[in-house]
Amino acid sequence: MKIQIQDLNKIYGNGKRALSNINLEIDNGMFGLLGPNGAGKSTLMRILVTLMKPTEGIVKINGFDLQKDRGEIRRMLGYLPQDFRFFTKLKTWEFLDYAAGLSGITNKAIRSEKVDEWLDKVGLFDVRERSANKLSGGMKRRLGIAQALIGDPQIIIVDEPTTGLDPEERIRFRNILSEISQRDVIIILSTHIVGDISSICQNLALLSKGQVGYNGSPEELIKKTKGHVWQVNTSGFEYEMLKEKYAIISTIPSEDGWEVQLVGDQLNVNHAIEIEPNLEHAYVYFMEYLNSQNGF
Ligand code: ADP
Repeated sequence: MKIQIQDLNKIYGNGKRALSNINLEIDNGMFGLLGPNGAGKSTLMRILVTLMKPTEGIVKINGFDLQKDRGEIRRMLGYLPQDFRFFTKLKTWEFLDYAAGLSGITNKAIRSEKVDEWLDKVGLFDVRERSANKLSGGMKRRLGIAQALIGDPQIIIVDEPTTGLDPEERIRFRNILSEISQRDVIIILSTHIVGDISSICQNLALLSKGQVGYNGSPEELIKKTKGHVWQVNTSGFEYEMLKEKYAIISTIPSEDGWEVQLVGDQLNVNHAIEIEPNLEHAYVYFMEYLNSQNGF
């Protein structure tokens, strides 16, 4: 599978520019789209799933054109929107059966098998007779995941995947996606939470103010941050100065003040220890420093 995005722009009716010259090539596997609220992630997702037209630009999925070949592209897609909601009197299993039908599984026996398989995978088998409306928030989210995946889509687009999920559910969801990502599929996860993608995405794009600031592997991004993350035991005036000048990642009380992890270009504090960056450090470093150097 391959998604090619060329010179994509989106300006909303009110004149708001949400995407500026997006160029991305996405191959098989898990792809993370990371950026703060308002960066343009949902706009890009909605364009990719053909719910919205771009103002300019071309998107090709396996050679199919997003504008001209909507039918073909929709058949490849599974989408879990950020605000997945449904108004239905259907029971949980009926809702899933309906979603399976929409995705093109016409054989009733196969559909029934698939429905049971997915009810089990997302932990809803025991409540399959309950009205889908009456499920808890987390359960509805899991039903959303199942409806997006039941038709074995080749392009899976998930907007803010962990909203409303508790930690156990997050792990279950991550495992389901990891398993699926071994096949000939592209999974795009859009999120503002670094932890959602840190261990599972082979590639990612950082979006900021509608522009792609970085596109590559998490490892490469982390490498760029080496030498810019420190741990300092500090207190009083120095602590206030550090808070003012640097991006603070964490503050933990210590015996004589605070143990602070911070990110910055240069640090002239002689008792600071340089530490190995992780993806969260890299994300903050990029957003706070590299982005502004690029004139964003
Ligand atoms: P994200 O998903 O990263 O939070 P969005 O794609 O939702 O970002 O929004 C990108 C920008 O476009 C924001 O400034 C947002 O306010 C604006 N925006 C989103 N939807 C609309 C809309 N329907 N009309 C006008 N502006 C919008």
